[in-house]
Amino acid sequence: MDYQQRETLLLAPYAMQSADSAGRVHDEPSHPYRSPYQRDRDRIVHSSAYRRLAHKTQVFTGEMGDYHRTRLTHTQEVASIARTLARSLRLNEDLVEALALAHDIGHPPFGHAGEDLLNERLEDQGGFNHNRQAVRLVTLLEKRYPQFAGLNLSHEMLDGQRRRTDKRFVEGNSPLLEVQIVDAADSIAYDAHDADDALELGILELEELAELELWREALDRVRARYTNLTQTELRRATIHELLDWQVGDLLSSVRALLIEHQIFSTADVRRAPPLAVASGELAEQKRQLESFLFARVYRHPKVLASRMEATAALGDLFDRLVADPTPLLTKPGNPFAEIAATDSTARAVADYLGCLTDHAALEEHSRMALI
Ligand code: MG
Repeated sequence: MDYQQRETLLLAPYAMQSADSAGRVHDEPSHPYRSPYQRDRDRIVHSSAYRRLAHKTQVFTGEMGDYHRTRLTHTQEVASIARTLARSLRLNEDLVEALALAHDIGHPPFGHAGEDLLNERLEDQGGFNHNRQAVRLVTLLEKRYPQFAGLNLSHEMLDGQRRRTDKRFVEGNSPLLEVQIVDAADSIAYDAHDADDALELGILELEELAELELWREALDRVRARYTNLTQTELRRATIHELLDWQVGDLLSSVRALLIEHQIFSTADVRRAPPLAVASGELAEQKRQLESFLFARVYRHPKVLASRMEATAALGDLFDRLVADPTPLLTKPGNPFAEIAATDSTARAVADYLGCLTDHAALEEHSRMALI
């Protein structure tokens, strides 16, 4: 059975069929046994930007230890949850996986701290945004093929990633359900793993999380099933419950909305309001958890201190390279000289710095600071 027959047989009527793809900017012959979205996924997995996620901060920097999530393991958790959702809803799992693996590749070193710094430096030139940067990477900065710049991804992949930059609802122009569930999986993953990592690192105590309805409810469910758990076992079981509960809730919420809005095609998905949303009660509890994490974890003195140190180095590196971009522009075979000539030096420097891992940025900074 070829992939088109397989999709016709297995996918829901509101799923994106590869046969209906709008194609790629540069025409390519179809592959004998991989669907266009399998090829998109493979192009992401083989890209340098994807590999570099292993050494980029999610929330906690490398100097805080080796056991918490990096941008890469976060991405893998998102892909795993998104594929579960996709298979259960009979969506195009290949497209979902490709979108999930690509969703964070635009992050510069040092997570949102690095992004805020670059955004500030490029304030009068359109700013810096990790979602837009992901599109620049896959259309311009990645050089994998002799014929064209970028990865020549499918229209649906590029559109899905572009939609992440502006998530406001526009009537009649909703993203594909494949795109919507990747976004939902992202939020399910980080709500659970940021709490988990914060507990592991001692930034939060279990008792503090018990202030939250969502956490208390998950904890009660675990306690109803097990007795005599150690603190670590209790934490892990609660995180597992939190994930399972959110995924189950999302699936039933999507199914109810598919019926309510009479969704039978991708055209129906596009004209409907957002469909991949948590049920009302859980959505409110998630909001409480997110503002709690923001105040107690993302703004924790330890996190802020490593954030300040890292952004100071990145800012200094940016300023030095803008003042004298020679080291950047003379590297053979990279696109930065052309970007500096056609756009601006600042944009070329931001593109270059965005590509660095946390470690490479610090290393480059200490090397330059010595010169
Ligand atoms: Mg993410």
